[in-house]
Amino acid sequence: MVICDFCNAPDPKHCWVSKPAQFKLQVGKQALVLNSDEHWAACDTCHVLISNFDAIALAQHSASMLDTKLPWPVIYMMHQTVFWPGKPHWHSGSEHSQDDEPQVH
Ligand SMILES: [Zn+2]
Repeated sequence: MVICDFCNAPDPKHCWVSKPAQFKLQVGKQALVLNSDEHWAACDTCHVLISNFDAIALAQHSASMLDTKLPWPVIYMMHQTVFWPGKPHWHSGSEHSQDDEPQVH
C-alpha cells in the first residue's frame, strides 16, 4: 500500500518530485539515515501545505502523525535537507505508469 511520505496517511493522491538526497542524523551511537528518491507521495493535507510552501506547518503535521517521536524541528531539518532543495514540483500520480525521463519545460 502506498502511504504519504510525509505523514504516513494511506492512499495519497499526490506526488511531488524533488531530487534524490540523503539526510543523516547521528545521536550518540544511533544514526538515522534517510535516502529519498525524487518522488514523494503526499496526501491531501500535506499536498496543501506543500502547495503553500508552508514548511513549518508541514513539519509539525508530519511530527504529529509519525510515530518516530522526533520533534518537529528535526523533521523540518530533514525536509529542508532532502525535500525542499530539489525545488519540488507537483505531478500527477497517474504519470507513474510510464517510465519517462523527466520533462524539461
Ligand atoms: Zn500526508
